[in-house]
Amino acid sequence: MAQQGNLIVLSGPSGTGKGTICKALLRSNPNLQYSISATTRSPRKGEQHGVNYWFFSKERFQEMIENDELLEWAEVYGNYYGTPWTYVAEILEKGQDIVLEIDTQGALKVKDKFPQGIFIFIVPPSLDELADRLWKRGTDSPEVIHTRLQCVREELKMAPNYHYLVINDRVSDAVNKIAAIILAEKCRMERNAQIIDNISSRGTVE
Ligand code: ADP
Ligand code: 5GP
Repeated sequence: MAQQGNLIVLSGPSGTGKGTICKALLRSNPNLQYSISATTRSPRKGEQHGVNYWFFSKERFQEMIENDELLEWAEVYGNYYGTPWTYVAEILEKGQDIVLEIDTQGALKVKDKFPQGIFIFIVPPSLDELADRLWKRGTDSPEVIHTRLQCVREELKMAPNYHYLVINDRVSDAVNKIAAIILAEKCRMERNAQIIDNISSRGTVE
């Protein structure tokens, strides 16, 4: 039986660069899969159902909650977001790693269920840079940008709940750091105790 994969959670204020980092990580790591969240938010220009998110009505989202289809869910910036459970379970069972790009409320719920997960908090180099990134991204209205910026200080207070902190100054540096964290976590003794047993039980020593 394959060793269970690792569940990796990435959080951080809106505009920090989580999506950008995730894309680069997925490109360079074929063993890593992306958990496509369900949301009641409207698609942004260029976003596709089943690629960026599963875009659902509030009624359908409510149904998913009632049917216990979500590993976690939360209301974030006025919309509902949640992680469909079946896909995550399948990937972990296959021995592949999966990354969840979710908010801090959802991350705490996942940590209760998966304390062995790898929890990484991503921050921008400064609040000014964060605002600049949100404006330049050009995907949200001024009202939405203001709402998101108003939440930043509260979100930053949640950082100590995570195992790792990564500053997204240069994308390639942040991606390399996260790849290094994942690699180091894979070598942790508690994830590999079985290897020692396997080595001991094979071959002879004179
Ligand atoms: P999030 O997923 O955290 O909301 P995005 O990945 O959408 O953030 O990034 C927000 C904007 O900032 C995008 O326009 C992206 O191209 C840009 N961006 C991401 N990382 C950096 C970086 N290190 N330096 C400059 N711009 C960045
Ligand atoms: P956006 O609307 O910018 O795509 O995402 C807004 C926020 O929702 C981000 O903080 C993002 O991490 C979070 N988010 C996305 N998917 C999920 C999810 O499945 N669960 C939770 N709890 N948060 C999510």
